[in-house]
Amino acid sequence: MPTPADELRARTRGPVFEPGVPGYDDARSIWNGMIDRHPALVLRCIGTADVIAGIHFARTHGLPLCVKGGGHNVAGLAVAEGALMLDMSAMRGVWVDPGVRLAHAQPGCLLSDVDQETQLHGLAAALGFVSTTGVAGLTLGGGFGYLTRRLGWTCDTLESVQMVTADGRRVRASSTENPDLFWALRGGGGNFGVATGFTYRLYPLGPEIFGGALAWPIAEAPRVLERFREITASAPPELALVAVLRAAPPAPWIAKEYHGKLVVMLLVCWTGPLAEGEGVVAPLRALGKLAGDVVQRRPWVSQQTLLDAANPKGRRYYWKSEYLAGHPPELLQAALGQIGSVPSPHSAVIFFPLGGAIAKLPADHSPMGNRDAVSLFNVAGSWERPEDDAKNIAWVRKSWERLKPFSTGGTYINFQPEDEGDERIKAALGPHLERLQRVKTEWDPDNFFRANKNIAPA
Ligand SMILES: Cc1cc2nc3c(=O)[nH]c(=O)nc-3n(C[C@H](O)[C@H](O)[C@H](O)COP(=O)(O)OP(=O)(O)OC[C@H]3O[C@@H](n4cnc5c(N)ncnc54)[C@H](O)[C@@H]3O)c2cc1C
Repeated sequence: MPTPADELRARTRGPVFEPGVPGYDDARSIWNGMIDRHPALVLRCIGTADVIAGIHFARTHGLPLCVKGGGHNVAGLAVAEGALMLDMSAMRGVWVDPGVRLAHAQPGCLLSDVDQETQLHGLAAALGFVSTTGVAGLTLGGGFGYLTRRLGWTCDTLESVQMVTADGRRVRASSTENPDLFWALRGGGGNFGVATGFTYRLYPLGPEIFGGALAWPIAEAPRVLERFREITASAPPELALVAVLRAAPPAPWIAKEYHGKLVVMLLVCWTGPLAEGEGVVAPLRALGKLAGDVVQRRPWVSQQTLLDAANPKGRRYYWKSEYLAGHPPELLQAALGQIGSVPSPHSAVIFFPLGGAIAKLPADHSPMGNRDAVSLFNVAGSWERPEDDAKNIAWVRKSWERLKPFSTGGTYINFQPEDEGDERIKAALGPHLERLQRVKTEWDPDNFFRANKNIAPA
């Protein structure tokens, strides 16, 4: 008697993994080590035909469906208990057309795949800060990184998306084809179909930019944060500064005496004229005694990997975040107060830069919205042992409560942890929820795609 796994194997090119088979545990494992769910079957798709076969199979067998892109979602949305998982990790092709400055990326691409291929042509896409993140989840939920202030949310730079619908049809969404669906895909969070390809607009950049990181002992934090506040209020879009409060990792660029001690860091990315980089950074370097300094001319692909080591796969993670309209001194003091009680050397309070280009498009350009935000804070809890879960989660929640009064009221759907429900989806997608529900009703009326921050049909 053939098993359901055999039946699926007979219809697909990609390998199928069931519990107990070598490869199953690797396929179901994701970035956040807190998530330990067991799909009924995993299909590692090789192409669009596999995606279609997977959708039909799940429907026939009454299985829920989940989709794994880069597997980075902190809530673990890529993997659902008892589901058929479509694992896209074998679909990592990138095709660059330099003549029209477009890149076509398959849905299993990590950010590094797109960076590597586009830089061959002196071009770059507006992606995120950590190169091991998947393009699919990042783009469908919005996306921001060092280039956001210049180019907008990642989804603002999308030209088109190829997708398979809940009834197994191939469609393209762009400003001229299925425009309502295209609108919803730009921030609506993987609710409308399985994306099989993304086309991004590209921009001339690199191969070198001026960037890196500066670190100071925590005693210097009030001065550094005050300067961060002043600079970010009027910085040109070519400058992105990320402020980080955390314990210094044992990295070679930080003086040994500071390892394990609290520091304030600024990640610096200047994508304006290279010759102006030293001048941009000079006032920052002059702020106080540095614990470390690796700001220099560097390849764009190097800048894009600066935060990779701080975010390894398999640790335990819990995040809380909010958009901010500014950085009042009271907010920065509150952040500083909270970092004093951080229970893990891996956790951090981070301020990511926004503003600039995102504010240039109308609020309803896409459901990503939140175009009034000048930054996003993320209380990023990160630790190693399950027995430390409670105290680390409690610290993240307490810190978030202290900083939340400064929120615009909006939050980022891609940073939402597992325990954030409908109210927080509303906070992320705000006034666009009704229109998203209408699109959902049209494209997925029985809510087949629901293993995500779900928008139910109207
Ligand atoms: C270390 C780290 C750094 C990050 N840095 C940034 C950053 O700089 N900027 C930023 O904007 N975000 C960032 N994020 C958040 C990131 O955008 C989200 O976690 C995003 O969900 C990751 O996408 P993924 O494909 O890796 O995730 P997955 O966990 O694989 O998927 C996330 C969601 O997208 C859905 N999905 C995945 N592929 C498809 C598909 N092909 N079709 C339809 N739905 C799909 C999944 O079903 C799931 O609901 C970061 C996350 C981490 C863990």
